[in-house]
Amino acid sequence: MNNNSTKQPNKFTRFLRNNIALLLLIFCVLAITAVVLAVTLTRNDTPVIPNDPVGGNPNDDQPGSTPPDDKPTQPTTQKVDVYFNSPVNYSEIGLEYTFGPSNLFTYKSTLNEWSAHKALDLKATEGAEVTAMYDGTVIETGKSFLKGNYVVIDHGEGVIATYASLEDVEVTKGQSVTRDQTIGYVSTTAESEYKEGPHLHLEVTVDGVNTDPTPYAEGKIYRTVEVTAE
Ligand SMILES: [Zn+2]
Repeated sequence: MNNNSTKQPNKFTRFLRNNIALLLLIFCVLAITAVVLAVTLTRNDTPVIPNDPVGGNPNDDQPGSTPPDDKPTQPTTQKVDVYFNSPVNYSEIGLEYTFGPSNLFTYKSTLNEWSAHKALDLKATEGAEVTAMYDGTVIETGKSFLKGNYVVIDHGEGVIATYASLEDVEVTKGQSVTRDQTIGYVSTTAESEYKEGPHLHLEVTVDGVNTDPTPYAEGKIYRTVEVTAE
């Protein structure tokens, strides 16, 4: 019996010793499982956050659908300042504009007299191109002792310009002209002013009243025009 009692703990101890490797293996498996579970649970927590942005996608659709409707429907109009261009490439001013309330007179050497000069004389080389200062319609062409060959253009909004002392007039009555279009050439055909040499005699009236052509010749007069951009 003693042998049995001493043998039994020996058998149990031997059992533990024989299976300790198995027990360690089971412990390891449990430990690994625990780690895997812990990692898996942690990962499950994070996907909850990306789910919210996915729910926000409907908001992205709303702004995406509105802009295409606006683009084709709106025509754009721009306001542009269009300037009167100097009618000739002049070297200097001849007779200045002296008509007006001050009632000043200008000495005209050709006529040997003092009188009003209701125009501006722009000295240039003989044959220099004379161009329309702005779009308009030719309302008169002709020849006179005072003005030589001349062209009268209605530039709209009450502005009428007379381009005088020309050679070879290039336009006819009733013709539409555009800004910078050649209408004739500088000469000395204005016999009343031939001593001044070749020049353009430029007159401007606004609503029938003579006005100083200087700001027109200097390109300081402009109109604001609405232009439709496509
Ligand atoms: Zn003149």
